[in-house]
Amino acid sequence: MDNPEIELPPNRLGKLDVGGAVGSEGFLYVLRDVGYGYPYSSTIELVSGEIGDDLTHYLVTSEQTPSALVLGVFVDSVGVQAAGGILLQVLPKAATDEELVRTLESRIGSLSGFTPLLRQRQTLPEIFEHLIGDMGLRILPETQLVRFQCSCSLERVLGALKLFGVEELQDMILTDGGAEAKCEFCSEVYQATPDHLNQLIKDLQQDTGSAPRVRQASILF
Ligand SMILES: [Zn+2]
Repeated sequence: MDNPEIELPPNRLGKLDVGGAVGSEGFLYVLRDVGYGYPYSSTIELVSGEIGDDLTHYLVTSEQTPSALVLGVFVDSVGVQAAGGILLQVLPKAATDEELVRTLESRIGSLSGFTPLLRQRQTLPEIFEHLIGDMGLRILPETQLVRFQCSCSLERVLGALKLFGVEELQDMILTDGGAEAKCEFCSEVYQATPDHLNQLIKDLQQDTGSAPRVRQASILF
């Protein structure tokens, strides 16, 4: 986003106007690292600028999984008072059951918002009970709290920097006095000192049968 500090009045429903701030012209870029080698990436046009709507559209069209994502955040003058979300997905065998999909759509559509439920101190199991309790809802004992975590580290940054090769690393030391890398996922900034880079150079010089040098490397971790 070009203007991340934007502030807009609430939309006509009295909610944060995320769609107005993001706009509906543009693309949603999704990078998914499912733990097998290179991350899977795809691009899809925005439909509304609202995060829940656009991610739902991505899941339905790109991954072809009937899905509904409801997100909410309630902010007052003190800060964020409640935030959360529900992702409902129909497993492949049930995806052909049009009536089931229709029923779920209308139930999700009947939610007037997610944060009012959280602010009423409803727990997620209570919300699910209310939403699909009559459809054989079973809450598994192995629940897991979702948390944000990024697998980036200085070691991975140094591993990526090594791909630049001896000459460019020497140039980074001489010209910039080191190197800086920012993780695209969590925005953590890593500093590689001249000592780090000298060590990489040493490693590269010791590597036998030196591999062809890559002048440009896209750093993804
Ligand atoms: Zn990161």
